[in-house]
Amino acid sequence: MNELNPSGWRPAMGASAPPDTIETFTGNRALQLEEALLFELGSPDRSGVDFDDIPDFDTALLGPNARKARLDLPGLSEPETVRHYTRLSRQNYAIDLGLFPLGSCTMKHNPRLDEKVARFPGFADVHPLQPVQTVQGALSAINELAVWLIELTGMHGVAMTPKAGAHGELCGLLCIRAALEAKGDPRAVILVPESAHGTNPATAAFAGYRVENIPATTDGRVDVDALKARLGPDVAGVMITNPNTCGLFESELKNIADAVHAIGGYVYCDGANFNAIVGRVRPGDLGVDAMHINLHKTFSTPHGGGGPGSGPVVLSEALSPFGPLPFTSRQADGSMKLIEEEQAHEEHPQAFGRMCAFHGQMGMFTRALTYILSHGADGLRQVSGDAVLNANYILRSLEDVLDAPFGAAGPCMHEALFSDDGFAEGFTTLDLAKGLIDEGYHPMTVYFPLVVHGAMLIEPTETESKAGLDQFIGAMRSLAERARAGDELLKSAPHLAPRRRLDETLAARKPKLVYKPA
Ligand SMILES: *Cc1c(COP(=O)(O)O)cnc(C)c1O
Repeated sequence: MNELNPSGWRPAMGASAPPDTIETFTGNRALQLEEALLFELGSPDRSGVDFDDIPDFDTALLGPNARKARLDLPGLSEPETVRHYTRLSRQNYAIDLGLFPLGSCTMKHNPRLDEKVARFPGFADVHPLQPVQTVQGALSAINELAVWLIELTGMHGVAMTPKAGAHGELCGLLCIRAALEAKGDPRAVILVPESAHGTNPATAAFAGYRVENIPATTDGRVDVDALKARLGPDVAGVMITNPNTCGLFESELKNIADAVHAIGGYVYCDGANFNAIVGRVRPGDLGVDAMHINLHKTFSTPHGGGGPGSGPVVLSEALSPFGPLPFTSRQADGSMKLIEEEQAHEEHPQAFGRMCAFHGQMGMFTRALTYILSHGADGLRQVSGDAVLNANYILRSLEDVLDAPFGAAGPCMHEALFSDDGFAEGFTTLDLAKGLIDEGYHPMTVYFPLVVHGAMLIEPTETESKAGLDQFIGAMRSLAERARAGDELLKSAPHLAPRRRLDETLAARKPKLVYKPA
């Protein structure tokens, strides 16, 4: 057999040779393909399209905007371009490839039925400026989703237009600001717990408030006494995540809300973790005034890579009058009306303004509505039950090899939180996370929430099977044992990925955005 192989390349016989010792001519490793930059593949002298020569054109017409140097963009043929991006996409990880345990992100399976409905021409091919009579079905779908969101949260109204959770936070705080200003009582401070997602303090600051932190108790919840002690006439409101980012239910939320209302403030709830309680708890019953719902988390519309998201904000009776335009309204004859500026001074005179140009993310609305209708009320209740069950299975299956700082306090909600306590000297959460890449998983959320040292936040969601969870738990147990035993190989993981460990901090702080030919 070896004579057929003059290059000296020897396939491993029987048991496989260590993968690092096999070299290939191309640098490709079977289906794992090496890929150069577009600039290295293409050339400014080539083009994928056959343009006619440019007719004489008086560049003086462009004045100071005339280009002075050649635009050295790399030209590539269509197949070269398609292959480039397809190859890169194969180096990516996706929910359609495997479990994606990012805590707080709710990376669940996106049912294909939702995709199918979102592509119906009546939803996908409409234009936001079409006459309202021609888009009655699409407006009706937005309205039906709005009704479901109000019902599921026990709230009074909903602003559908915000395009992500963070955008919804801003919408909610602008409603709070408008409500306080309408009373002639603008206030300066928003209280945010230490464990909050970074978007919470960022939003409050962006909306013009001073942010003050509220500490957490040793059991991972908001310190209610500290919060109450801080309440006063300068506090516009609080932003509380429930369930919180430690994966725990804030059981004192009603008590907190009553105290905040008593001083004339409002309660914003970060609803990113609604997946843990949907169908079981209505935030409206807990005194919440505004809460965003990440449709791309709880209601399964696809996310990752920065979008598209959708973050409708449900509002209490006190805040609803201030919600943004436009919104849909069903008329007595069953037809849909779009409340825009023209009608607003009669029907919704206190709107604070608008969050975006048009009606929000139609594709996300149709997916989320399909998800809700295909599950039904009982199915949504089962979603949260199974999500919590899966997270607790992970918590209890790993707590003998990984420190679970709040494990003793009882069951977790939809995500399990671990710390790096017990790792060998010099071994970190990052080492374990990188080892997970070699095992074929996207790492969990690391170093968040900040209240736990070397945090690892794992959210399996309800869409993983027990067999899938068992395999992940096996990989995690093996990595935890290696981190505890001080296995040096773990420090340089990943070993089997297309690239080894990268300096992510340097890449983020000093990105190289300009290509310079070698
Ligand atoms: C995801 C998330 C957000 C922000 O939502 P985006 O849709 O990403 O803007 C806010 N808070 C928490 C707890 C989250 O998990």
